[in-house]
Amino acid sequence: MSNLSDPIYGGIEAGGTKFVCAVGRAPDGVLEEARFATRGPEETLAEALSFLRAAHSKYGLAAIGIATFGPAVVDPVSPDWGCIGKTPKAGWSGTDLAGPFVRAFAVPVGFDTDVNGAGLAEARWGAAQGTAQSVYVTVGTGIGGGIIVNGQPLHGLQHPELGHIRVVRPEGERAPGICSFHGDCLEGLASGPAIKARWGAELGELPPDHPAWRAEADYLGQLCAQLVLTVSPQRIVLGGGVMSHPALFTPIRAATRARLGAYVPALEQSGAMEALIVPPAFGARAGMLGALALASDRALSMAASKSSAGP
Ligand code: ZN
Repeated sequence: MSNLSDPIYGGIEAGGTKFVCAVGRAPDGVLEEARFATRGPEETLAEALSFLRAAHSKYGLAAIGIATFGPAVVDPVSPDWGCIGKTPKAGWSGTDLAGPFVRAFAVPVGFDTDVNGAGLAEARWGAAQGTAQSVYVTVGTGIGGGIIVNGQPLHGLQHPELGHIRVVRPEGERAPGICSFHGDCLEGLASGPAIKARWGAELGELPPDHPAWRAEADYLGQLCAQLVLTVSPQRIVLGGGVMSHPALFTPIRAATRARLGAYVPALEQSGAMEALIVPPAFGARAGMLGALALASDRALSMAASKSSAGP
């Protein structure tokens, strides 16, 4: 997929628990990679800067991409572009994440959420390749989603926050959700910590006939049904720690179909649900590859705006 003459990019996947820095071209052309724990902003960013400085002097990076945990200011005309929003993660609220890289390197810097980045990587090279419209959802410590439309992550008011939609509890289920903003939103009821809070164990530790499995599939089926109705994606890629259980896919597809009734004719054909809701191609590598994709997109859009502005 990658060519030796292709430009080399730097990528940073800024996660709440770890940072992954990489240098490369495409999924099969990652040349170097480093991962380290996320501490305070100052020391964490210093470590990322020093990795990319060394890479830049070795390879001459054409651009840098940052795929970050959210919320983040992704609007390129906002004065706060590149900053982390209000986050419960100690010390990180308002941190200027992109600025230090813009100042340290005279190259374009792309900046988006980790799920938009992962969605971009899956759409370009992975499980959503060949689709015009796809969604990437991660179900783990939190729940987040990126929407890719015609090869580009969807932005607007800010970026989508799929993890916080309202869902309906299964019959008889009354336990409170754990989202600090909404209580019983999807993340508050179906994220990894929510499962543990409700059932006292992780999903993988519970027997297959435990009600936790059915509840989880139903919550995520509600998300998928709402995505079908609002975004009309050709593919929904479900990744993250909770989705590492392949047994969840069949009941999620069934729950999605049950919520939709027979309302969407395209999903009534044989195999349509299996093609709609799929596991990721890149697993835990999607965010890092997404950062490289964001770098290459930023470089291309800067080049295009320069050439349209004339000499
Ligand atoms: Zn919430």
